Amino acid sequence: MQAERAGAGKVGFIGLGVMGLRMAANLLKAGFPLAVHDLNGSAVAALVAQGATDAGSKAGVAAAADIVITMLPDTPDVESVVFGEGGLAESMRAGSILVDMSSISPVATRRFAASLAERGVTMLDAPVSGGFQGAESATLSIMVGGDGDALERCRPVLEAMGKTINHIGASGAGQVCKVCNQVAVAINIQAVAESLTLAKKSGVDPAKVRGALLGGFARSTALDLHGQRVLDDNFAAGFRVTLQRKDLRLALETGSASGAVLPATALIQQLYGVLAATGRADLDNSSLAMLMQELSGAR
Ligand code: NAD
Repeated sequence: MQAERAGAGKVGFIGLGVMGLRMAANLLKAGFPLAVHDLNGSAVAALVAQGATDAGSKAGVAAAADIVITMLPDTPDVESVVFGEGGLAESMRAGSILVDMSSISPVATRRFAASLAERGVTMLDAPVSGGFQGAESATLSIMVGGDGDALERCRPVLEAMGKTINHIGASGAGQVCKVCNQVAVAINIQAVAESLTLAKKSGVDPAKVRGALLGGFARSTALDLHGQRVLDDNFAAGFRVTLQRKDLRLALETGSASGAVLPATALIQQLYGVLAATGRADLDNSSLAMLMQELSGAR
């Protein structure tokens, strides 16, 4: 196993937020030497305490690693870390691999990968699903786009963070898969929000309704986890409204580019916009239920 890890090369990690901090910790637990960087010094310090090296900058990570992982909020953040001043494009060695695990634009991803390829650097898109719980327990579902040989080189690293690793297709295909995931998840969350609001307004116990529905065709992870949040009135993030809103924007942009019609996604994107405009951008994405209760006079 240790030989496999050595074969994978040295690993670097940029973006130690809700997800990245936990994913990087799992790489350390699995025995990978790790060089890290984040704008937030306390996140870096937390990982150094677990055995990581503070690379000091993005270029420092590039100098220390053969495989660099990024886990950043949005497309402009990845663009700045890769192509901004002192960025990875100018500092990563030819033959090394960038694994972007952030959820960003599939179209921009293809552009980034093509530009890096000209410099001899291979880029994989490898966004994840599973939330901070999946990041913590190393059970993420990882959706990969890009070169198959590069994926095989990175597989031991990805296996230390995730349970399901699917090679979806060429560059950008992992990000397309991720927006498909977000469309399905968001519509599911809205379904749970409406269903449990209907129960409450009808004078029926939403807890009993959730329990009954979990035994039938309506069973879903959203009903299980987010349904429980609704019963507990607990909308602390979790996966923030602002990130889910960003993901649905990416889904709508991808649909617009490909000609896919996404009416329910467009509606739910607007509802997340209401939450953001009313000071709730940092609540959990399950807070659609709070909005449905408000609109129904049920809060
Ligand atoms: P986050 O905002 O908690 O973390 C992002 C980290 O990136 C922060 O620590 C920030 O300081 C760092 N950062 C930003 N710009 C930087 C820069 N220029 N240089 C160095 N560091 C920089 O976000 P998160 O919740 O960890 O999500 C990361 C990505 O994963 C997002 O694309 C999100 O959509 C996706 N995602 C999140 C979840 C979730 O449950 N939170 C689940 C699946 C996917």
